[in-house]
Amino acid sequence: MSVRIKTPNLDEIFEKWKQKAARIDRKKMEKQFGTKGAAFSLDAISAAEYVKDTMKEAAIYFAVKRSLGPAPKGKEENLVAAPRVGREQFYSFKGATKINKENWNGDEKVPQFESIQAVSCKTCKGKGYLESKCKTCKGTGKIEETFTVLVGEEQNKEKKLFSYPCGACYGTGNRTEPCKDCGGHKNMYKYDILPVPFKTVITGVPILHSSAQTKYEKEIGDDLHSMIEDVEGIRFSDFKELESKSEASLGYMNKNISKTISAARSDYKKHEKDNDSQITTQIYLFPMIQMLCETKKGQKFELYSLGSGNKFMTYSNF
Ligand SMILES: [Zn+2]
Ligand SMILES: [Zn+2]
Repeated sequence: MSVRIKTPNLDEIFEKWKQKAARIDRKKMEKQFGTKGAAFSLDAISAAEYVKDTMKEAAIYFAVKRSLGPAPKGKEENLVAAPRVGREQFYSFKGATKINKENWNGDEKVPQFESIQAVSCKTCKGKGYLESKCKTCKGTGKIEETFTVLVGEEQNKEKKLFSYPCGACYGTGNRTEPCKDCGGHKNMYKYDILPVPFKTVITGVPILHSSAQTKYEKEIGDDLHSMIEDVEGIRFSDFKELESKSEASLGYMNKNISKTISAARSDYKKHEKDNDSQITTQIYLFPMIQMLCETKKGQKFELYSLGSGNKFMTYSNF
């Protein structure tokens, strides 16, 4: 069972607006509603005379807390050869105060200078070169030749071995080549791509959807955010309940209100899914009365009320 909320009546709305408008600028009221030669009195200005049309609308309100940063979590690592370290753009936040995300111009994760670390090359075990058997001497360190020597008076041919150190490996039997992975620099270099240390800012954001196409949505939202106790609406804990009870609660319904409820529901779902967002209030449904008015001088203006007959606020472009 739902309880129908009492909508403020037109005279109450008009009266509240009239008093407020006179407090702000009495001269303007006098100019727009006064009669030449007669003493000006607020009492003579009635809704019946100056309200030309009235629409029954509705507004939906909820508030969310948004936390800005430290947004991305986790780190990435890069491992590169020495000459490539300098090609990366590094950042440093050492000793710096936390970054205001709104002022940050750049990626949310960046390579951090202080994280650069040398890592011994695995391929060459940190030597910078690779050893292999000399191909020229097959690892013996010597070049061997067989000479045919003519021996004695008979000059008999005899094979004799002759050897000398291999010139390709300086007689060691091994050759060294620069390591292809580290390029002879012994180390590879590792660095972290870390989230920028953003300040955590929790801000309260009022969300307002209204079926009256007003330019006061932001103002109304801000007002509700600070003075929700000053306006009476119907509270719901979810949209399913709101959708099933809105017509009975308001006592009226129209296409624009239905559309507004759908739009508010998608917005609400979006905030529910957003990890940086937290819904902090129930969902409020407010009756909203939109009045099209015209002064005695013919100046057209709009007047809105938001809330129940017990507690409502007025807005106007008068
Ligand atoms: Zn050799
Ligand atoms: Zn290496």
